[in-house]
Amino acid sequence: MVAPRRAKPPRHLADLSTTGRREWLSELGHPAFRADQLSRHYFERLVDNPDDMTDLPAADRESLTKTALPQLLTPVRTLTCDNGTTVKNVVRLFDGAMVESVLMRYPGRTTMCVSSQAGCGMNCPFCATGQAGLTRNMSTAEIVEQVVTGARMLASGEVAGGAGRVSNVVFMGMGEPLANYRAVIDAVRRLTEAPPSGLGISARSVTVSTVGLVPAMDRLAGEGIPVTLAVSLHAPDDELRNTLVPLNTRYPIDEVLRSAWAYADVTGRRVSIEYALIRDINDQPWRAHLLGSMLKNRSVHVNVIPLNPTPGSVWTAATPESERTFVRRLEDHGVPVTVRDTRGREIDGACGQLAAVSTEEGARE
Ligand code: SAH
Repeated sequence: MVAPRRAKPPRHLADLSTTGRREWLSELGHPAFRADQLSRHYFERLVDNPDDMTDLPAADRESLTKTALPQLLTPVRTLTCDNGTTVKNVVRLFDGAMVESVLMRYPGRTTMCVSSQAGCGMNCPFCATGQAGLTRNMSTAEIVEQVVTGARMLASGEVAGGAGRVSNVVFMGMGEPLANYRAVIDAVRRLTEAPPSGLGISARSVTVSTVGLVPAMDRLAGEGIPVTLAVSLHAPDDELRNTLVPLNTRYPIDEVLRSAWAYADVTGRRVSIEYALIRDINDQPWRAHLLGSMLKNRSVHVNVIPLNPTPGSVWTAATPESERTFVRRLEDHGVPVTVRDTRGREIDGACGQLAAVSTEEGARE
């Protein structure tokens, strides 16, 4: 049974602030401190089995957890690669919408790449998520639960490398996070608040990536949460960017960069510029030179991403030589550059490849 799309996801403890949780539990006729106990189980102990919540009255455990900690994500499949250090989780939401998240374990850090929307409305032609359009915004708790799922997998030792924790979160899964602003900001708060209120991940280790929704970028600068802002630029000139990132026709490059530099000023955080390098499209040395001259002397870091293949696209990654030349040209301007690895390619878990089919039927294909 698929519920109507307009119905909202069930309310969950992680949707609410600490105060909101207490009020909610009181309204339901429970002592307010039950909210704190449940928060500790969810955010701090990462427990999901009511039997393990022994500080709750035995008679209420089941119903309390069903109400306050409803299961929001139903696992559909789990795929791993890189010797078990990259794990893609495909999950179904309450209304049948499907989303994906990817856990990437590196020496010294583990990053969860999460989705903020089922699908995406930005329509970038090189990104698989954009091709199917937007299904809906995710709720705060649906976003947070992806990280909690990863945290549980790490804590239980089922990810290669032994027991561990999530150190970084990147909003680089499905969706445009700044087009689901309220839910994403609240999710960032849940991720960064100290336990038991939240997961206690450092704001500096959280990256919000955007195609350049300028009003929302400006608003983000005023939130007082120093997350890393990543801007998916992909071209230094409006003519090309209009075709690669259609939103550019509304917010052109100079406005996007103005907002990005203001963000860096206000937060003291270096902005990341994402640049998916596409053969014969945006990889020319003159474009590297132009980009370098625009970013020179700014508080910035460029991530060059070799284009990952997506179904139906004729585009491919730049050749290794043109990638090297592109990087060198940027470095000539003194701009720091990293070439991102292509983790998760074999399981369609790399940048731009997340495109969970929207029915369970399709997922079993
Ligand atoms: N909508 C946001 C969040 C998605 S982040 C944004 O666009 O920033 C995903 C990152 O992967 C973005 O930088 C996106 O441009 C990039 N990407 C999309 N498709 C890609 C592909 N096929 N190969 C490499 N990178 C891709």
